[in-house]
Amino acid sequence: MELHELTIHELNDLLKKKEVSAVEVTNSYLKRINEVEPKVDALICETADFAIKKAEEADKMIRDGNINDLTGIPVVIKDNMCTENIRTTCASKMLEDFIPPYNATVVENLNSLGAVMVGKANLDEFAMGSSTENSAFKTTKNPWDLERVPGGSSGGSAASVAADECAFSLGSDTGGSIRQPASLCGVVGMKPTYGLVSRYGLVAFASSLDQIGPITKDVTDCAIVLNAITGHDPKDSTSVDNVRKSDYKEFLKDEIKGMKIGYAKEFFRQGLDEGVKKSIENALKTFEELGAEIREISLKYMDYALAAYYIVASAEASSNLARYDGIRYGHAAEKYEDLIDMYMVSRSEGFGKEVKRRIMLGTYALSSGYYDAYYNKALKVRTLIKQDYEKAFQDVDVIVGPTSPTVAFKIGERVEDPLAMYLADVYTVPVNIAGLPGLSLPCGLSEGLPVGLQIVGKHFDEGTILNAAYAFEKACNFTAKPSFKGGAK
Ligand code: GLN
Repeated sequence: MELHELTIHELNDLLKKKEVSAVEVTNSYLKRINEVEPKVDALICETADFAIKKAEEADKMIRDGNINDLTGIPVVIKDNMCTENIRTTCASKMLEDFIPPYNATVVENLNSLGAVMVGKANLDEFAMGSSTENSAFKTTKNPWDLERVPGGSSGGSAASVAADECAFSLGSDTGGSIRQPASLCGVVGMKPTYGLVSRYGLVAFASSLDQIGPITKDVTDCAIVLNAITGHDPKDSTSVDNVRKSDYKEFLKDEIKGMKIGYAKEFFRQGLDEGVKKSIENALKTFEELGAEIREISLKYMDYALAAYYIVASAEASSNLARYDGIRYGHAAEKYEDLIDMYMVSRSEGFGKEVKRRIMLGTYALSSGYYDAYYNKALKVRTLIKQDYEKAFQDVDVIVGPTSPTVAFKIGERVEDPLAMYLADVYTVPVNIAGLPGLSLPCGLSEGLPVGLQIVGKHFDEGTILNAAYAFEKACNFTAKPSFKGGAK
């Protein structure tokens, strides 16, 4: 086995025993990036020189006896998280030349543990999309089939893990952007409870929904990365300080006898692929064989979640993106007539189609004549969805179902049809609306492509999700690997 094929915990064993050095590990990944990146296009920028320097520092930490779980481990960061002195573009022309003067808190966390950043990942512009086709720079390809999308918006993060370009990556999830690409690329992705991970330095999309989380090769690694990035941050006022910082590795037990697992009858809706449905039904059987108790629950407002999400998220985006006015930072127009024209031209040139669509939608929903009809109504639906979950969680410990209604779709298939694209998030969006934690892990193949199982838990109960996911992962034993087929360029 090559070093770049290993998980974080396997690499950590070798580093601890001093069988390999951090520089050797990093070189193996940099070589892999050179080999597969021309096919996959997962990265907006590669940070090879920076990575070698960091790997040397990691080797010093190891020599000094300061090794921890992430020392010397190669990571890719989604390009909407600020990295000091390293370009952070949000896959937008608006920020094409933006070099942040500071690190996001999560980046700072990883740096202090000695993780080695090898690149920044492609995404849909400002994290708006489900396929990475909205990136202003390139479309990432799915390593399982290069003619298909990797999902989005953290498509580069998920594809880079699936293609072994890094041992793990960070993504952000506003309506499914960690879980859906993880599902389509056959890797593990987790959106933590809102408030568990600091958003400081994450370029804001929809502030009441955004959350950063890990994308990894297995559930153990997910727990390891979660340990590294959770915790109170005074720089983010929505970061919670009253939850115990658990060691998430303690939850990695294969015993789930008596665990109460809910599935919602609303999951089996129109638009769910037959193959995905079969895999989910098999997963439920596996949980039953493991001694869990399966209970039917109802999430009766689920059908309204997408509509509510696209109003709330767009409303917040229209406000958050107002700062890109061509004056303070970001793209500035060269030719304009007066101040208003300068704003207009800068924004027209800097933003792509989908971002403009959301700004218009959000501005409309917030405008005085329509505020009650749209924005306030969406907030009411948000409350009803939260209550759906609260009720369900009186009866069950976790809820399982599909992450995405389909496997990876073809590049170009949905990009001209925003509503079809938005449907990719039908199972993930309600979880953000309720602020709950959710994880996606592979549970089988359909049409030769990975299917993701979503496990949703109570607020701050990431531990139970990890327990269920770990037990399932062992029982399911998903070993298929991407084939990089198709996609002649
Ligand atoms: N696909 C969803 C959207 O376009 C979710 C994006 C995300 O989670 N960042 O809004």
